[in-house]
Amino acid sequence: MTPLETRNELLGKTLVEKLERRHFEAYYCPTAKEALEKALSLIPEKSSVSWGGSMTIRDMGLTKALHEGNYEVIDRDLAKSPEEFQELLRKGVSADFYLMSANAISEDGVLVNIDGTGNRLAALTYSAKNVIVLASLSKVAQDVDAALKRARSYAAPVNSMRFMGNTPCAKTGLCHNCVSEQCICNQVLFTRNCFPAGRIKVILIGETFGF
Ligand code: SF4
Repeated sequence: MTPLETRNELLGKTLVEKLERRHFEAYYCPTAKEALEKALSLIPEKSSVSWGGSMTIRDMGLTKALHEGNYEVIDRDLAKSPEEFQELLRKGVSADFYLMSANAISEDGVLVNIDGTGNRLAALTYSAKNVIVLASLSKVAQDVDAALKRARSYAAPVNSMRFMGNTPCAKTGLCHNCVSEQCICNQVLFTRNCFPAGRIKVILIGETFGF
């Protein structure tokens, strides 16, 4: 095992304990392949499944595997009109399983997420029956303040560029704490405890995915 693999193994184990203390169901998987298998093992066949805009779940092949499996997939990326897109967003947040990443996680197990539309946070806080969060260890920050800074100064500008937002960060690469019409930081959520216990399942991944 390389020093990095050893560090990830130890950090993954520690984070799982911290998350379980907060009543999340938690797992550490060294590779994306193992994380994909773990996620699929948690979702019974025929369940309705949807997801947010996460690059992690797309890049690791999970959305493709769900399309190929025996699930009722609600995929807003297949919408043929803005109206259908909104309809799929609304339907998706009430799915049996909602998949997402996290913008950051503190070392003591608090999830930090920032949304423009807020649909992903609606699913996370209440409406989805189960939520599976897949997050690389690269998203772990020292404490909640550091996690929020990571989400605001790194993840949000990249996401604004992804969605071609007309925002100051998309022009400079830095967060300007804007209130632009196309701001993607409209909702900021700290998830510090999971209720009901086990509803939110967190799969930590040793390999780096997403940003
Ligand atoms: S500039 Fe605006 S949209 Fe960009 S990261 Fe900062 S608050 Fe979010």
